[in-house]
Amino acid sequence: MAAGFIDPLFSTGFVLSLLGIERLCDWMEAGEPQEKLDRYGVETLADLDATADLVGAAYRTLDDPESFEAVSMLYFAAASYSECARRLGKPGLAPGFLLRSHPRFGPGFRECLLAAGRAHPDALAAQVASVVRPFNVAGLCDPSKRGWYPVAAADLLGASDTLGSDPDEIRAMLRRTGFDG
Ligand SMILES: Cc1cc2nc3c(=O)[nH]c(=O)nc-3n(C[C@H](O)[C@H](O)[C@H](O)COP(=O)(O)OP(=O)(O)OC[C@H]3O[C@@H](n4cnc5c(N)ncnc54)[C@H](O)[C@@H]3O)c2cc1C
Repeated sequence: MAAGFIDPLFSTGFVLSLLGIERLCDWMEAGEPQEKLDRYGVETLADLDATADLVGAAYRTLDDPESFEAVSMLYFAAASYSECARRLGKPGLAPGFLLRSHPRFGPGFRECLLAAGRAHPDALAAQVASVVRPFNVAGLCDPSKRGWYPVAAADLLGASDTLGSDPDEIRAMLRRTGFDG
């Protein structure tokens, strides 16, 4: 039986399933202690809550493209940063789905979601940009791109510090994962 159901606006189903499987594998490898199983439940529900908050904020701003875009930047920033951290073999940099447990990103993420649909779109975009900045590995929050964000290795290489890596580590990761852009 599913632990939860969330509207598929941001296609989060596979990721939530895979994170759950990863946690269950950890639990089995550790000899199936009750404490880790309880933790699995807590973490799974916290992932679902963070996703529901994000999707709820997106629906709240559906009739306001500027605010909707700002909310979506939070998603793309958290997803791209987490994926890069994992591909670099540094999953500890990205705790919790959507970086919800990150001491810096998590609180900022939640404050932005609370403001979505309530704050002026410009104020929301500025608030989101400041939360995203230290995690921005994909050149996000750039109005000059008019919502069209290319996949550019230069963005990631320019943000290598934020991933605790040097550019050579990033280049090696890109080669290893088949990126030749
Ligand atoms: C149309 C559609 C498009 C989607 N697109 C995306 C997407 O683009 N990106 C994304 O991230 N997510 C997407 N999702 C969501 C994603 O498919 C689900 O979140 C994910 O598959 C859930 O995985 P699961 O293993 O929990 O469940 P499921 O994949 O549903 O697996 C459950 C399995 O259990 C079997 N089963 C059920 N009851 C029994 C029983 N009593 N005995 C034996 N077997 C049983 C079922 O036959 C099924 O094979 C989409 C979903 C749908 C329906």
